[in-house]
Amino acid sequence: MTSSAGSESTPIRTCVGCRNRAEQNQLLRVVLRANAVVPDTQNRQLGRGAYLHRNQECIDRAIQRRSLIRALGADSDLDYRLLQQLTSSS
Ligand SMILES: [Zn+2]
Repeated sequence: MTSSAGSESTPIRTCVGCRNRAEQNQLLRVVLRANAVVPDTQNRQLGRGAYLHRNQECIDRAIQRRSLIRALGADSDLDYRLLQQLTSSS
């Protein structure tokens, strides 16, 4: 009997961009503040959160498909500037 060690202690979350599941520590948590999507880099913000891979593709998809609006329980368009700043490399 072979079992991979320690996998049960890590929560699995779904990326709202690509819909793939990943360990929570590989994903970025974001929360809603006022009408803005705010990266929760410490995993400490209260409230409803959503999880995303920290890459441009997943962030773009989540914005374009409006997945974040639903995942965060919002009902209008959101301010994604803080989120987009994360991956802008210039
Ligand atoms: Zn993803």
